[in-house]
Amino acid sequence: MSDPTRKELRRGWCPSTLKPMETGDGWLVRLHPPGARLTPAGLRRVAALAAEHGNGLIEISARANLQIRGVTPASHPVLVERLLAQGLLDEHEGDGPQRLTLVSPLAEEAGGLIDALALAKRIEAQGRTVSGLPPKFSIIVDDGGSCSLDTIPCDLRVVGIAEGLAALGLADRRWHGPLPQAEAAAAAQSIQQGFAHLRRAAPESVRRLRDLSDAALATLTHLPQITAPAPRPAPQRAGLVAMADDCFAALVALPFGRCEAATLDRLAEAVASESDIRFSPWRGLAFRGLDRAAADRLLTLARNLGLIVADDDPRLSVQACAGSPACSRAEAPTMVDAARLAEAAADLLARGVSLHASGCVKACAHPGAADLTLVGRAGHYDVVIGGTTRDKPIATLDLPALLARLQPGQDIQARLAGAVRKAGPRG
Ligand code: SF4
Repeated sequence: MSDPTRKELRRGWCPSTLKPMETGDGWLVRLHPPGARLTPAGLRRVAALAAEHGNGLIEISARANLQIRGVTPASHPVLVERLLAQGLLDEHEGDGPQRLTLVSPLAEEAGGLIDALALAKRIEAQGRTVSGLPPKFSIIVDDGGSCSLDTIPCDLRVVGIAEGLAALGLADRRWHGPLPQAEAAAAAQSIQQGFAHLRRAAPESVRRLRDLSDAALATLTHLPQITAPAPRPAPQRAGLVAMADDCFAALVALPFGRCEAATLDRLAEAVASESDIRFSPWRGLAFRGLDRAAADRLLTLARNLGLIVADDDPRLSVQACAGSPACSRAEAPTMVDAARLAEAAADLLARGVSLHASGCVKACAHPGAADLTLVGRAGHYDVVIGGTTRDKPIATLDLPALLARLQPGQDIQARLAGAVRKAGPRG
Protein backbone atom coordinates (compact mmCIF):
# COMPACT_ATOMS: atom_id res chain seq x y z
CA MET A 1 0.00 0.00 0.00
CA SER A 2 1.31 3.45 -0.85
CA ASP A 3 1.69 6.03 1.86
CA PRO A 4 -1.36 8.19 2.49
CA THR A 5 -0.66 11.67 1.14
CA ARG A 6 -1.87 15.09 2.07
CA LYS A 7 -3.94 15.00 -1.11
CA GLU A 8 -6.02 12.33 0.61
CA LEU A 9 -6.93 14.83 3.34
CA ARG A 10 -9.28 16.48 0.85
CA ARG A 11 -12.92 16.75 1.84
CA GLY A 12 -14.96 13.62 1.41
CA TRP A 13 -12.11 11.14 1.54
CA CYS A 14 -12.59 8.37 4.11
CA PRO A 15 -9.89 6.37 5.83
CA SER A 16 -10.23 2.59 6.19
CA THR A 17 -8.20 -0.24 7.64
CA LEU A 18 -6.22 -0.80 4.47
CA LYS A 19 -6.01 2.88 3.54
CA PRO A 20 -5.27 4.87 6.68
CA MET A 21 -5.29 8.64 6.93
CA GLU A 22 -2.24 10.65 7.89
CA THR A 23 -2.79 12.81 10.99
CA GLY A 24 -0.59 14.78 13.36
CA ASP A 25 0.00 11.77 15.59
CA GLY A 26 0.54 9.20 12.85
CA TRP A 27 -1.87 7.20 10.73
CA LEU A 28 -5.51 6.82 11.68
CA VAL A 29 -6.77 3.30 10.96
CA ARG A 30 -10.53 2.82 10.82
CA LEU A 31 -11.84 -0.67 11.29
CA HIS A 32 -15.17 -2.39 10.92
CA PRO A 33 -15.53 -5.43 13.18
CA PRO A 34 -17.58 -8.29 11.69
CA GLY A 35 -21.30 -7.60 12.09
CA ALA A 36 -20.46 -4.22 13.71
CA ARG A 37 -20.05 -5.97 17.08
CA LEU A 38 -17.33 -7.39 19.28
CA THR A 39 -17.12 -9.78 22.20
CA PRO A 40 -15.35 -8.53 25.34
CA ALA A 41 -12.35 -10.68 24.34
CA GLY A 42 -12.41 -9.08 20.87
CA LEU A 43 -12.48 -5.58 22.32
CA ARG A 44 -9.53 -6.47 24.57
CA ARG A 45 -7.60 -7.70 21.51
CA VAL A 46 -8.34 -4.46 19.64
CA ALA A 47 -7.17 -2.46 22.68
CA ALA A 48 -3.96 -4.50 22.90
CA LEU A 49 -3.25 -4.04 19.18
CA ALA A 50 -3.92 -0.29 19.45
CA ALA A 51 -1.39 -0.06 22.28
CA GLU A 52 1.17 -2.21 20.49
CA HIS A 53 0.91 -0.85 16.95
CA GLY A 54 -0.59 2.62 17.50
CA ASN A 55 -0.14 5.27 20.16
CA GLY A 56 -2.68 3.70 22.52
CA LEU A 57 -5.59 6.00 21.64
CA ILE A 58 -8.88 4.68 20.28
CA GLU A 59 -11.80 6.65 18.88
CA ILE A 60 -15.41 5.86 18.05
CA SER A 61 -16.63 8.07 15.24
CA ALA A 62 -20.05 9.66 14.75
CA ARG A 63 -20.71 6.82 12.26
CA ALA A 64 -20.00 4.27 15.04
CA ASN A 65 -16.67 3.24 13.53
CA LEU A 66 -13.68 2.19 15.64
CA GLN A 67 -10.47 4.10 14.94
CA ILE A 68 -6.93 3.32 16.06
CA ARG A 69 -4.59 6.34 16.17
CA GLY A 70 -0.87 6.77 15.95
CA VAL A 71 -0.13 3.86 13.59
CA THR A 72 3.13 4.11 11.64
CA PRO A 73 4.15 2.94 8.15
CA ALA A 74 6.17 0.21 9.86
CA SER A 75 3.45 -0.94 12.27
CA HIS A 76 0.51 -0.78 9.84
CA PRO A 77 1.12 -4.02 7.88
CA VAL A 78 1.59 -5.98 11.11
CA LEU A 79 -1.54 -4.42 12.61
CA VAL A 80 -3.65 -5.37 9.57
CA GLU A 81 -2.22 -8.88 9.55
CA ARG A 82 -3.07 -9.37 13.23
CA LEU A 83 -6.55 -7.86 12.91
CA LEU A 84 -7.27 -10.29 10.07
CA ALA A 85 -5.72 -13.27 11.84
CA GLN A 86 -7.73 -12.58 14.98
CA GLY A 87 -11.03 -12.22 13.10
CA LEU A 88 -11.44 -8.57 14.02
CA LEU A 89 -12.13 -7.28 10.51
CA ASP A 90 -15.22 -7.53 8.35
CA GLU A 91 -14.69 -10.10 5.58
CA HIS A 92 -15.38 -7.37 3.00
CA GLU A 93 -12.90 -4.88 4.46
CA GLY A 94 -11.16 -3.33 1.47
CA ASP A 95 -13.97 -4.04 -1.02
CA GLY A 96 -15.29 -0.49 -0.71
CA PRO A 97 -14.41 2.82 0.84
CA GLN A 98 -16.34 2.27 4.05
CA ARG A 99 -19.35 0.62 5.62
CA LEU A 100 -22.57 1.93 4.05
CA THR A 101 -25.03 1.25 6.84
CA LEU A 102 -25.57 2.36 10.40
CA VAL A 103 -27.83 0.41 12.77
CA SER A 104 -28.94 1.21 16.32
CA PRO A 105 -26.66 -0.23 19.04
CA LEU A 106 -29.82 -1.61 20.69
CA ALA A 107 -31.21 -3.21 17.49
CA GLU A 108 -33.06 -6.52 18.00
CA GLU A 109 -34.06 -5.68 21.54
CA ALA A 110 -35.79 -2.31 21.65
CA GLY A 111 -39.21 -3.05 20.16
CA GLY A 112 -38.12 -2.96 16.53
CA LEU A 113 -40.61 -3.43 13.68
CA ILE A 114 -38.11 -4.80 11.14
CA ASP A 115 -34.94 -6.87 11.45
CA ALA A 116 -32.50 -4.00 10.99
CA LEU A 117 -29.33 -6.07 11.35
CA ALA A 118 -30.30 -8.64 8.71
CA LEU A 119 -31.53 -5.91 6.38
CA ALA A 120 -28.32 -3.88 6.84
CA LYS A 121 -26.30 -6.96 5.93
CA ARG A 122 -28.26 -7.39 2.69
CA ILE A 123 -27.98 -3.68 1.89
CA GLU A 124 -24.19 -3.83 2.44
CA ALA A 125 -23.88 -6.85 0.15
CA GLN A 126 -26.01 -5.34 -2.62
CA GLY A 127 -24.54 -1.86 -2.21
CA ARG A 128 -21.05 -3.19 -2.90
CA THR A 129 -22.16 -3.92 -6.47
CA VAL A 130 -22.96 -0.24 -7.10
CA SER A 131 -20.11 1.88 -8.44
CA GLY A 132 -20.02 5.66 -8.52
CA LEU A 133 -21.32 6.40 -5.03
CA PRO A 134 -19.51 9.12 -3.03
CA PRO A 135 -17.18 7.71 -0.34
CA LYS A 136 -19.38 8.97 2.50
CA PHE A 137 -22.71 7.73 1.12
CA SER A 138 -24.59 6.53 4.18
CA ILE A 139 -27.72 4.48 4.80
CA ILE A 140 -29.40 4.34 8.19
CA VAL A 141 -31.37 1.19 8.86
CA ASP A 142 -33.65 2.04 11.77
CA ASP A 143 -35.92 -0.70 13.10
CA GLY A 144 -38.52 1.85 14.21
CA GLY A 145 -38.09 0.85 17.88
CA SER A 146 -37.31 2.98 20.90
CA CYS A 147 -33.68 3.67 19.95
CA SER A 148 -34.45 6.16 17.21
CA LEU A 149 -31.74 7.30 14.81
CA ASP A 150 -33.90 10.18 13.52
CA THR A 151 -31.38 12.87 14.42
CA ILE A 152 -28.39 11.21 12.72
CA PRO A 153 -28.04 12.62 9.19
CA CYS A 154 -27.73 10.26 6.22
CA ASP A 155 -28.36 9.99 2.48
CA LEU A 156 -30.93 7.22 2.58
CA ARG A 157 -33.01 6.13 5.58
CA VAL A 158 -34.83 2.79 5.84
CA VAL A 159 -37.22 2.87 8.80
CA GLY A 160 -39.60 0.27 10.20
CA ILE A 161 -43.09 1.79 10.23
CA ALA A 162 -45.22 -1.31 10.98
CA GLU A 163 -44.50 -4.96 11.70
CA GLY A 164 -42.39 -6.15 8.72
CA LEU A 165 -42.93 -2.94 6.73
CA ALA A 166 -40.43 -0.21 5.95
CA ALA A 167 -40.40 3.31 4.51
CA LEU A 168 -37.54 4.87 2.55
CA GLY A 169 -36.45 8.44 3.27
CA LEU A 170 -34.41 10.11 0.53
CA ALA A 171 -32.12 12.87 1.75
CA ASP A 172 -34.48 13.19 4.75
CA ARG A 173 -36.77 15.20 2.46
CA ARG A 174 -38.87 12.79 0.53
CA TRP A 175 -40.47 9.56 1.77
CA HIS A 176 -41.59 6.54 -0.25
CA GLY A 177 -43.23 3.22 0.63
CA PRO A 178 -44.45 1.29 2.42
CA LEU A 179 -42.71 -1.89 1.32
CA PRO A 180 -42.08 -5.32 2.90
CA GLN A 181 -38.71 -5.49 4.59
CA ALA A 182 -37.76 -8.37 2.27
CA GLU A 183 -37.90 -5.91 -0.65
CA ALA A 184 -36.12 -3.02 1.04
CA ALA A 185 -32.54 -4.01 0.15
CA ALA A 186 -33.36 -4.23 -3.56
CA ALA A 187 -35.22 -0.90 -3.41
CA ALA A 188 -32.24 0.71 -1.67
CA GLN A 189 -29.87 -0.72 -4.27
CA SER A 190 -32.03 0.63 -7.09
CA ILE A 191 -31.95 4.11 -5.52
CA GLN A 192 -28.16 3.91 -5.17
CA GLN A 193 -27.81 2.88 -8.82
CA GLY A 194 -30.05 5.73 -9.98
CA PHE A 195 -28.17 8.24 -7.86
CA ALA A 196 -24.77 6.99 -9.11
CA HIS A 197 -26.05 7.43 -12.67
CA LEU A 198 -27.22 11.03 -12.04
CA ARG A 199 -23.95 11.76 -10.26
CA ARG A 200 -21.86 10.55 -13.20
CA ALA A 201 -23.77 12.99 -15.42
CA ALA A 202 -23.02 16.00 -13.16
CA PRO A 203 -20.14 15.07 -10.83
CA GLU A 204 -19.39 18.66 -9.82
CA SER A 205 -22.90 19.66 -8.77
CA VAL A 206 -24.21 16.32 -7.47
CA ARG A 207 -22.00 15.15 -4.61
CA ARG A 208 -24.61 13.82 -2.19
CA LEU A 209 -28.23 12.73 -2.51
CA ARG A 210 -29.33 15.99 -0.88
CA ASP A 211 -27.91 17.93 -3.86
CA LEU A 212 -30.69 16.54 -6.09
CA SER A 213 -33.90 18.47 -6.61
CA ASP A 214 -37.17 16.95 -5.41
CA ALA A 215 -38.04 16.17 -9.03
CA ALA A 216 -34.76 14.30 -9.49
CA LEU A 217 -35.22 12.41 -6.20
CA ALA A 218 -38.66 11.33 -7.40
CA THR A 219 -37.09 9.57 -10.41
CA LEU A 220 -35.08 7.25 -8.15
CA THR A 221 -37.96 5.03 -7.04
CA HIS A 222 -41.32 3.82 -8.34
CA LEU A 223 -42.72 3.47 -4.83
CA PRO A 224 -45.52 5.88 -3.96
CA GLN A 225 -44.65 9.01 -2.02
CA ILE A 226 -45.84 8.97 1.60
CA THR A 227 -45.71 11.35 4.55
CA ALA A 228 -42.69 11.19 6.80
CA PRO A 229 -42.98 8.74 9.73
CA ALA A 230 -43.99 10.39 13.01
CA PRO A 231 -40.94 11.53 14.98
CA ARG A 232 -40.09 9.43 18.03
CA PRO A 233 -38.74 10.63 21.37
CA ALA A 234 -35.00 11.23 21.50
CA PRO A 235 -33.16 7.99 22.31
CA GLN A 236 -31.14 7.37 25.43
CA ARG A 237 -27.47 7.87 24.61
CA ALA A 238 -25.79 6.89 27.90
CA GLY A 239 -26.67 5.01 31.09
CA LEU A 240 -28.71 1.95 32.01
CA VAL A 241 -31.30 0.56 29.58
CA ALA A 242 -33.72 -2.26 30.43
CA MET A 243 -33.93 -4.80 27.61
CA ALA A 244 -36.00 -7.96 27.06
CA ASP A 245 -35.79 -11.04 29.33
CA ASP A 246 -34.58 -9.17 32.44
CA CYS A 247 -31.39 -8.19 30.66
CA PHE A 248 -29.84 -4.73 30.68
CA ALA A 249 -27.56 -2.73 28.44
CA ALA A 250 -24.97 -0.29 29.73
CA LEU A 251 -24.48 2.61 27.33
CA VAL A 252 -21.09 4.26 27.79
CA ALA A 253 -19.97 7.19 25.66
CA LEU A 254 -16.39 8.38 25.18
CA PRO A 255 -15.87 12.11 25.83
CA PHE A 256 -15.59 13.60 22.33
CA GLY A 257 -15.28 10.08 20.98
CA ARG A 258 -11.83 9.25 22.26
CA CYS A 259 -10.10 7.36 25.11
CA GLU A 260 -7.02 5.35 26.01
CA ALA A 261 -7.00 1.75 24.77
CA ALA A 262 -6.31 0.73 28.37
CA THR A 263 -9.65 2.29 29.40
CA LEU A 264 -11.59 0.12 26.95
CA ASP A 265 -9.56 -2.87 28.10
CA ARG A 266 -10.67 -2.20 31.70
CA LEU A 267 -14.33 -2.09 30.64
CA ALA A 268 -14.11 -5.24 28.50
CA GLU A 269 -12.30 -7.08 31.29
CA ALA A 270 -15.12 -6.21 33.71
CA VAL A 271 -17.96 -7.83 31.74
CA ALA A 272 -18.81 -11.50 31.28
CA SER A 273 -17.52 -13.20 28.15
CA GLU A 274 -21.01 -13.65 26.67
CA SER A 275 -21.76 -9.92 26.69
CA ASP A 276 -22.28 -8.44 23.26
CA ILE A 277 -20.65 -5.08 22.48
CA ARG A 278 -22.00 -2.75 19.78
CA PHE A 279 -20.88 0.74 18.79
CA SER A 280 -23.10 3.79 18.89
CA PRO A 281 -23.29 6.96 16.78
CA TRP A 282 -23.11 8.85 20.07
CA ARG A 283 -19.45 7.88 20.05
CA GLY A 284 -19.82 5.13 22.55
CA LEU A 285 -20.44 1.49 23.23
CA ALA A 286 -23.45 -0.57 24.22
CA PHE A 287 -22.58 -3.48 26.48
CA ARG A 288 -25.55 -5.78 26.06
CA GLY A 289 -26.79 -8.95 27.74
CA LEU A 290 -25.89 -7.90 31.30
CA ASP A 291 -27.84 -8.54 34.48
CA ARG A 292 -28.77 -5.48 36.51
CA ALA A 293 -25.92 -5.79 39.03
CA ALA A 294 -23.29 -6.25 36.28
CA ALA A 295 -24.63 -3.26 34.32
CA ASP A 296 -24.56 -1.07 37.44
CA ARG A 297 -21.00 -2.16 38.24
CA LEU A 298 -19.87 -1.43 34.69
CA LEU A 299 -21.42 2.04 34.69
CA THR A 300 -19.76 2.85 38.01
CA LEU A 301 -16.40 1.73 36.63
CA ALA A 302 -16.93 3.77 33.45
CA ARG A 303 -17.82 6.88 35.47
CA ASN A 304 -14.69 6.44 37.58
CA LEU A 305 -12.65 6.20 34.37
CA GLY A 306 -13.99 9.60 33.26
CA LEU A 307 -16.40 8.27 30.65
CA ILE A 308 -19.96 9.43 30.03
CA VAL A 309 -22.69 7.36 31.72
CA ALA A 310 -25.55 9.87 32.04
CA ASP A 311 -27.77 11.21 29.31
CA ASP A 312 -27.55 14.77 30.63
CA ASP A 313 -23.73 14.92 30.53
CA PRO A 314 -22.98 18.18 28.65
CA ARG A 315 -20.06 16.53 26.83
CA LEU A 316 -22.58 14.49 24.81
CA SER A 317 -23.75 17.69 23.12
CA VAL A 318 -20.29 18.82 22.04
CA GLN A 319 -18.56 17.70 18.86
CA ALA A 320 -14.79 18.09 18.86
CA CYS A 321 -12.16 16.77 16.48
CA ALA A 322 -8.75 15.48 17.57
CA GLY A 323 -7.19 18.97 17.42
CA SER A 324 -3.57 19.67 18.33
CA PRO A 325 -1.22 18.05 18.99
CA ALA A 326 -2.87 14.89 17.57
CA CYS A 327 -3.64 16.37 14.14
CA SER A 328 -0.99 18.13 12.09
CA ARG A 329 -3.55 20.49 10.54
CA ALA A 330 -5.00 21.60 13.87
CA GLU A 331 -4.58 25.21 14.99
CA ALA A 332 -6.03 24.71 18.48
CA PRO A 333 -6.17 21.97 21.16
CA THR A 334 -9.88 21.30 20.60
CA MET A 335 -10.13 18.10 22.60
CA VAL A 336 -8.78 19.71 25.78
CA ASP A 337 -10.67 22.96 25.28
CA ALA A 338 -13.95 21.18 24.53
CA ALA A 339 -14.16 19.84 28.09
CA ARG A 340 -13.88 23.38 29.54
CA LEU A 341 -16.34 24.73 26.97
CA ALA A 342 -18.84 21.96 27.80
CA GLU A 343 -18.63 22.88 31.46
CA ALA A 344 -18.98 26.63 30.79
CA ALA A 345 -21.94 26.17 28.45
CA ALA A 346 -23.60 23.32 30.40
CA ASP A 347 -26.90 25.20 30.91
CA LEU A 348 -27.18 26.06 27.21
CA LEU A 349 -26.23 22.52 26.13
CA ALA A 350 -28.89 21.09 28.45
CA ARG A 351 -31.43 23.33 26.70
CA GLY A 352 -30.48 21.97 23.26
CA VAL A 353 -27.72 24.25 22.00
CA SER A 354 -25.19 22.41 19.82
CA LEU A 355 -21.48 23.20 20.06
CA HIS A 356 -18.76 22.16 17.64
CA ALA A 357 -15.04 22.76 18.23
CA SER A 358 -12.92 22.12 15.14
CA GLY A 359 -9.16 22.40 14.88
CA CYS A 360 -9.47 23.73 11.31
CA VAL A 361 -12.12 24.28 8.64
CA LYS A 362 -12.09 20.63 7.54
CA ALA A 363 -14.70 19.81 10.20
CA CYS A 364 -13.86 16.12 10.62
CA ALA A 365 -16.04 15.78 13.72
CA HIS A 366 -19.16 17.46 12.37
CA PRO A 367 -19.49 18.69 8.78
CA GLY A 368 -22.90 20.26 9.38
CA ALA A 369 -24.04 23.45 11.09
CA ALA A 370 -24.10 23.94 14.86
CA ASP A 371 -25.53 26.70 17.05
CA LEU A 372 -21.97 27.58 18.07
CA THR A 373 -19.07 26.55 15.86
CA LEU A 374 -15.48 27.27 16.89
CA VAL A 375 -12.72 26.97 14.32
CA GLY A 376 -9.09 26.88 15.44
CA ARG A 377 -6.91 29.62 14.01
CA ALA A 378 -3.36 30.22 15.31
CA GLY A 379 -4.26 29.14 18.84
CA HIS A 380 -7.50 31.18 18.90
CA TYR A 381 -11.01 30.33 17.72
CA ASP A 382 -13.07 31.86 14.94
CA VAL A 383 -16.60 32.02 16.38
CA VAL A 384 -19.51 31.18 14.05
CA ILE A 385 -23.11 31.39 15.28
CA GLY A 386 -25.61 29.11 13.57
CA GLY A 387 -23.32 27.90 10.78
CA THR A 388 -20.49 25.61 9.75
CA THR A 389 -16.70 25.93 9.91
CA ARG A 390 -16.79 27.56 6.46
CA ASP A 391 -19.20 30.35 7.40
CA LYS A 392 -18.26 33.91 8.33
CA PRO A 393 -17.12 34.27 11.96
CA ILE A 394 -18.47 37.02 14.21
CA ALA A 395 -15.25 37.20 16.23
CA THR A 396 -11.90 35.54 16.89
CA LEU A 397 -11.25 34.81 20.59
CA ASP A 398 -8.80 32.94 22.75
CA LEU A 399 -10.15 30.33 25.16
CA PRO A 400 -10.37 32.53 28.30
CA ALA A 401 -12.24 35.22 26.33
CA LEU A 402 -14.54 32.59 24.89
CA LEU A 403 -15.27 31.08 28.30
CA ALA A 404 -16.02 34.57 29.66
CA ARG A 405 -18.44 35.29 26.79
CA LEU A 406 -20.32 32.07 27.56
CA GLN A 407 -21.19 33.28 31.05
CA PRO A 408 -24.79 34.39 31.73
CA GLY A 409 -25.45 37.94 30.55
CA GLN A 410 -22.61 37.96 28.03
CA ASP A 411 -23.11 38.54 24.30
CA ILE A 412 -22.52 35.03 22.90
CA GLN A 413 -24.59 33.53 25.73
CA ALA A 414 -27.44 35.88 24.97
CA ARG A 415 -27.38 35.08 21.25
CA LEU A 416 -27.35 31.34 21.90
CA ALA A 417 -30.11 31.63 24.51
CA GLY A 418 -32.12 33.48 21.83
CA ALA A 419 -31.58 30.58 19.43
CA VAL A 420 -32.91 28.17 22.08
CA ARG A 421 -36.01 30.32 22.63
CA LYS A 422 -36.73 30.35 18.89
CA ALA A 423 -36.29 26.59 18.45
CA GLY A 424 -37.77 25.61 21.82
CA PRO A 425 -36.02 23.22 24.19
CA ARG A 426 -35.07 19.78 22.91
CA GLY A 427 -37.65 17.16 23.86
S1 SF4 B 1 -10.95 19.16 11.58
FE1 SF4 B 1 -9.59 18.63 13.27
S2 SF4 B 1 -8.99 16.49 12.94
FE2 SF4 B 1 -9.84 17.28 10.99
S3 SF4 B 1 -8.04 18.00 9.85
FE3 SF4 B 1 -8.86 19.76 10.97
S4 SF4 B 1 -7.76 19.81 12.89
FE4 SF4 B 1 -7.44 17.79 12.00
